[in-house]
Amino acid sequence: MFKKILIANRGEIALRVIRACKEMGIQTVAVHSTADTDAMHVRMADESVCIGPPPSSASYLSIPAIVSACEITGADAIHPGYGFLSENANFVQVLEDHNITFIGPTAEHIRIMGDKITAKETAKALGIPVVPGSDGGVPDVAAARTVAADIGYPVIIKATAGGGGRGMKVARNEDELETAFRTARSEAKAAFGNDEVYIEKYLQKPRHIEIQVFGDGKGRAVHLGERDCSLQRRHQKVFEEAPGPVITAEERTRIGKTCADAVAKISYIGAGTIEFLYEDGEFYFIEMNTRLQVEHPVTEAIFRVDLVREQIRVAAGLPMELQQDALKIDGHAIEVRINAEKVPDFAPRPGRITQFHAPGGLGVRMDSALYDGYTIPPYYDSLIGKLIVHGRNRPEALARLKRALSELIVEGAGVETTIPMFHRLVEDPDIQAGNYSIHWLEKWLERTYGHG
Ligand code: ADP
Repeated sequence: MFKKILIANRGEIALRVIRACKEMGIQTVAVHSTADTDAMHVRMADESVCIGPPPSSASYLSIPAIVSACEITGADAIHPGYGFLSENANFVQVLEDHNITFIGPTAEHIRIMGDKITAKETAKALGIPVVPGSDGGVPDVAAARTVAADIGYPVIIKATAGGGGRGMKVARNEDELETAFRTARSEAKAAFGNDEVYIEKYLQKPRHIEIQVFGDGKGRAVHLGERDCSLQRRHQKVFEEAPGPVITAEERTRIGKTCADAVAKISYIGAGTIEFLYEDGEFYFIEMNTRLQVEHPVTEAIFRVDLVREQIRVAAGLPMELQQDALKIDGHAIEVRINAEKVPDFAPRPGRITQFHAPGGLGVRMDSALYDGYTIPPYYDSLIGKLIVHGRNRPEALARLKRALSELIVEGAGVETTIPMFHRLVEDPDIQAGNYSIHWLEKWLERTYGHG
């Protein structure tokens, strides 16, 4: 087993990894920018190294600085968390060259699930159902017309290099196609420096359903059911739950097995998530994330597992403890993302925290790096905490969420959060009924707050 792990991340996910390491008796190294000197992950780790100035490009994304921190402290492995360098194949390659273990998949696995066209081709080859669409990139308007006529309108034009919900345009009919195609291209060029686009059938009212998979790197893999992450704003997840309110046991077993078999075939190692749009009983692959997800705690809650511990174990070459037959769903879990943002426009509102009180009690987990007197720096993601509740069933989880939200206090000078929004959201009859698609939240925000 590793003696010392460096966590190449910050915030709540750095704490999440440090906690797992402590329980496993592994020493921890935090890295931080000059803006994070007083951050909780620095306080909780056994050692810390400053790796650069506030902008992440010069600190949390600086491969030389992170590798040096590893060498100075003698860390033998790196956990990347999510975001930052977690899906950077080049980083994984560099670590390999320095004999530092990357706690995650191989560079090759990251690559084959990297750009969207390659990912879709990989998924298809592995037997995963994909959204009907073009075979690869679409070079011009004429080709776009042919593809669109073939798959039927509406269609969505997406950037090959896309991410974060950018570079996507919908064309409802042939008249809209040319403009949509040209706009998507120029947006893709501006955002990603690559104007290649591809076309897919546009699903009207799908849900976002993702399957958690886990591989031992030796050809064995399991699935841990699904999470429903349909509640999104501008393609950013806000509220996630497991199991999905509309997924049947048969559907779960079928798609779960397809995904586990697919990753077993490539001897995938560690945690991964295969994301689908789900409509009328069908699953359509959109992408795979080759890392731990923000919303992994809802899966941990219903299966009573520790995914980070398992990631560390398999990376160290130990046998995977997860066994498909032993993975049984226990109850229901919900996560809400606490962001330092003003609703309804979701503009960042960081600042100094004057009062922080985390909820507690039965079935409540709060993953947050906040503390009284902490100043949220303006340079990074506005996620400041995740509240996760677990109940014997969905109504109990919702009642518990409402109760836990009533205990949660985050106050500060100029600080605003998404907490008041969740107070209202849990009261909504559609949320209580589990009746929503990927478009529901934006419509609700409009209804509830007017145009932000
Ligand atoms: P990104 O990597 O930029 O987040 P994704 O391919 O994962 O892009 O898609 C993000 C979101 O865009 C999906 O969760 C869904 O809301 C919407 N979307 C993507 N493809 C389609 C499609 N074919 N039909 C309808 N909605 C889509």
